Amino acid sequence: MGAAIRSEAFINGQWIDAATRFDVQNPANGDTVAAVPDLGAAETDAAIAAAHTAGPGWSGLLAQERARILEAWYGLIIGEADRLAALMTAEGGKPLAEAKGEIVYAASFIKWFAEEGRRAYGRTIPTTVATRRYVTIRQPVGVVAAITPWNFPAAMITRKAGPALAAGCTMVLKPPQQTPLTALALAELGVEAGLPAGVLNIVTTSKSRPVGDALCADPRVRKLSFTGSTAVGKMLAEKCAGTVKRISLELGGNAPLIVFADADLDLAVKGAIASKFRNAGQTCVCANRILVQADIYDEFAKRLTDATAALKVGPGDEAGVQIGPLIDDAAIAKVSELVADARANGAKALTGGAKLDLGARFYAPTVLANVTRDMRLFREEIFGPVAPLVKFNDDDEAVSLANDTEYGLAGYFFTRDVNRAWKITERLDYGMVGVNDGILSNEVSPFGGVKESGLGREGGVEGLEEFLETKFINFGGM
Ligand code: NAP
Repeated sequence: MGAAIRSEAFINGQWIDAATRFDVQNPANGDTVAAVPDLGAAETDAAIAAAHTAGPGWSGLLAQERARILEAWYGLIIGEADRLAALMTAEGGKPLAEAKGEIVYAASFIKWFAEEGRRAYGRTIPTTVATRRYVTIRQPVGVVAAITPWNFPAAMITRKAGPALAAGCTMVLKPPQQTPLTALALAELGVEAGLPAGVLNIVTTSKSRPVGDALCADPRVRKLSFTGSTAVGKMLAEKCAGTVKRISLELGGNAPLIVFADADLDLAVKGAIASKFRNAGQTCVCANRILVQADIYDEFAKRLTDATAALKVGPGDEAGVQIGPLIDDAAIAKVSELVADARANGAKALTGGAKLDLGARFYAPTVLANVTRDMRLFREEIFGPVAPLVKFNDDDEAVSLANDTEYGLAGYFFTRDVNRAWKITERLDYGMVGVNDGILSNEVSPFGGVKESGLGREGGVEGLEEFLETKFINFGGM
């Protein structure tokens, strides 16, 4: 894997160890990749103190000075993309080509926000009193706590660190216990790029609750940016209420992918495969329910089944592999349970439907026919390589099925009719809509959900807003 794996935590510009460490496992074979310090509330407090102390110096730099450091960080990440991708595959399991794609995608947020940080404009406001003048200025919110998930070990960090640091905030990051090594490798490159001590701190832990509690309770932390499950997001939001922190929540999804009878079926199959099976189905924007119009249901099911059965499954570092292992034993158990529930209630596996004999955490890419609203996988995030097919008759039924969930992150549909495209887009209760495409995230566009999928946006001009306060100034006595 090239250079040695960085496996200490990072606080106030120092790489630090602890009396106890926990193992990071390779999900493909259970091997230990490295062990990292198991930190708690005391070290979290030290990290917050470091970020708090570093704040004035960092926010006091010119935006272009911060941008220069961030651009250097971007360059180093791109230069080390192969090494970082191999590390990500080792701890997270995703196929190497996907891991490399994620590193490039992750780096793009650093570059975009380095540029956007220079455009944190205020306003002048026409006055209402002749002796007064009104303006606003934008200022960093202060110390930011970031808590991120394992399914995108790099990008979920840079989508927060890029805008936060560009805005002049400092950060304490708690990476997930399954994939802390990518986070530490990114921090190491940040140091090389010139990030001053205390600007970015990384608290590794297997005890997320006390660390999370310390971050949420501390009045020096002015913002929490969280990506993860809706259940944990709700709990953290409650805890942040005590100090009235700003919060951004990127939570779970239950994406519908609708295929209308007038769709280009080849495009729809391609889009469904891309959306459903990326990262073995472990993304928040994965198609969780594929809704297919009755007239083309059998033909689409056949084509999707053929394409799904052709996917190559194996360890992420094996050439040509498209589907890696699931992240842990609990993930395999959940997918198996959801498929069993669907089958018991009348669903039929057209391909797959079982674990594979490649190791403990491999599940066969699966297509399930005859899925209905009363099955668990219609309502719950599957987070695995299972494509449930639901039949519908007309536009109203498609929209009713699509919106019948408390989630509202991403939705997709395929049609050749431009009128239908507009109308369906407007009726879908989702923060993001993919029309004739199964992939929609990039650094220049706002990413985020409505309903219980979250609050706020990452990426785009909106992504910087999350880390800026607006200060109104009234100049009187003119
Ligand atoms: P998770 O269990 O909510 O964990 C996410 C993060 O929260 C991890 O760092 C985890 O740490 C931490 N955490 C868990 N319990 C905590 C607590 N009591 N206090 C403080 N921190 C706590 O979610 P996951 O299973 O890892 O990630 C998958 C979920 O993320 C899915 O629901 C997916 O849809 C969502 N997601 C959303 C987006 C989006 O942009 N909307 C993007 C990616 C993923 P430990 O793992 O170390 O315990």
